[in-house]
Amino acid sequence: MSNLVVLKEFLENNNYSFKENELLKLHTSFKIGGNASLFVSPSDENELKEITDKCKELSVKFYILGNGTNVLFSDKGFDGVVISTTEKMNGIRRIDETSFECDAGVTLSAVCNYALENSLSGFECLYGIPGTVGGAIITNAGAYGGEISDVAVEVKHIDENGNFGSYIGQEIDFSYRHSAYENNNYTICSVVFTCQKGDKSEIKAKMTDLIGRRKDKQPLEYPSAGSTFKRPVGGYAAALIDQAGLKGTHVGDAEVSVKHSGFVINKGNATCSDVLELVEIIKQRVLENSGITLELEVRVVE
Ligand SMILES: Cc1cc2nc3c(=O)[nH]c(=O)nc-3n(C[C@H](O)[C@H](O)[C@H](O)COP(=O)(O)OP(=O)(O)OC[C@H]3O[C@@H](n4cnc5c(N)ncnc54)[C@H](O)[C@@H]3O)c2cc1C
Repeated sequence: MSNLVVLKEFLENNNYSFKENELLKLHTSFKIGGNASLFVSPSDENELKEITDKCKELSVKFYILGNGTNVLFSDKGFDGVVISTTEKMNGIRRIDETSFECDAGVTLSAVCNYALENSLSGFECLYGIPGTVGGAIITNAGAYGGEISDVAVEVKHIDENGNFGSYIGQEIDFSYRHSAYENNNYTICSVVFTCQKGDKSEIKAKMTDLIGRRKDKQPLEYPSAGSTFKRPVGGYAAALIDQAGLKGTHVGDAEVSVKHSGFVINKGNATCSDVLELVEIIKQRVLENSGITLELEVRVVE
C-alpha cells in the first residue's frame, strides 16, 4: 500500500475534510495547476498539526496553501497533499481594545472589514490584496506604503519538528517582501495584530480610494498572481518590462498585461509552462536592456 493511501485512510478514520485528485487551478488566482493527489482542509491548528505530523511520519510531500494568490502550480499538479487554510481556519478573536488574533486562513479582506467595523486603523493599505493572513506573513505583503509588518506583532506556528511555538516582534524578521517564514518551512497557525483606534469614516475613505486605484491600474479582469516579480534594487519591475518593449508579449495564453506590465495574466487557457517560458523571455530581455536581474515574486510549485 502506498503511503498516500495510508494517509488517505488516516484522514478518513479521523473524519477530516478532504478531496482526492482536486484540480488546483480551482484554488489559485492564476487559474493554473493540475491535480493534487489529496486536498485537505483542517479546521484548526490541532488538525493542522496532526495532518502535517502524519505527512512527515509517512514521508508524504505536503504544501500549505492560503488563498492561492501568489503561487503557480505545475500543469502536472502536486503529487502529495495540499493543505488549505482558507476553507475552515478563519476565526477572528478579539484580545483587547486594539488587538485581535486571526487564524492563518482568514482573508485580508475579512481582516480589513473586521478592522473597519471595529474602527481600528492600520490595515487600510492591505485592502485589496487577495491573500490570507498566513500567506501575507510569508512575504510581508504590502502596498501603497503599508505592509502587514506594521500591524503583526506575534505569529504562532508549527516548527519543522512539529512543535507549536511563536515569533514575537523582531523575531519575525520582516523586511521588504521578506519574513523569517519565507524559507523556514514552518506552518503559520495564527497571527496577533495590534492596530490603533481610528475614525471609521476615514478608514473607509482610505480603503475606497485604494481599491479604486487598484481597479484603475491593475488587470483585475484577468486571472493572475499579482506582481510577477519583486521590486528590484534600482527600479520598478513594471517600468523595466515596459522599457524592454515587452507589453503584450505572450506565450500561448500567458501575456504581459498591457494595462500593467508588472502582471503576467492568463487570457484563458495559459499553462504553467507558458508562464515560465514567458518569465524567462522577460528576465532575459530586461537583463539585456537594463542590466537588472528580475527575481520572481510568485512561488512556483513543481
Ligand atoms: C490581483 C492581485 C493583486 C495582488 N496585490 C498584491 C499587493 O499589492 N501586495 C502584495 O504584497 N501582494 C499582492 N498580491 C500577491 C498575494 O496576494 C500576496 O502575496 C498574498 O499575501 C498571498 O497570500 P495567499 O494566502 O494567497 O498565499 P498563497 O498564494 O496561498 O501562498 C503563498 C506562499 O505562502 C505559503 N503559505 C500560505 N499560507 C501559509 C501558512 N499558513 N503557513 C505557511 N506557509 C503558508 C504558501 O506555501 C506559499 O509558499 C496580489 C495578488 C493578486 C492576484
